[in-house]
Amino acid sequence: MCIFCKIAAGEIPAAIVFKNDHVTAFNDLNPQAPTHILIIPNRHIESVNEILDDASANAVAECLRAAREIAQQQNLSNGYRLVTNIGKEGGQAVMHLHFHLLAGRRMGWPPG
Ligand code: AMP
Ligand code: ZN
Repeated sequence: MCIFCKIAAGEIPAAIVFKNDHVTAFNDLNPQAPTHILIIPNRHIESVNEILDDASANAVAECLRAAREIAQQQNLSNGYRLVTNIGKEGGQAVMHLHFHLLAGRRMGWPPG
């Protein structure tokens, strides 16, 4: 099991901020903004590059729904950024699909 599968299964601890049957969201260990939450599908999918069927597409949709719900719960009314890194040059270190939800400061563009 990968590290994020273990977090979704409750086998290793994380600061969980949202959980349902489809997704788990928890604070990033190395935050890059005042709010930095990772939203992951509970089922292992490597990245959005592996969205090959309706079930995996639905897992992504559930992550986006969770982002909206978390943003409401945490009053992120000034906006937030969702990022998903894909592969080595995309900056992906953990090979389990995750969306970074970043908020609490003005985000730069272009991203590094
Ligand atoms: P990425 O580079 O897009 O794959 O992002 C991986 C993210 O996972 C990084 O921001 C790490 O700080 C974060 N991370 C790695 N392990 C953990 C963990 N056990 N709990 C919380 N965040 C983690
Ligand atoms: Zn996994």
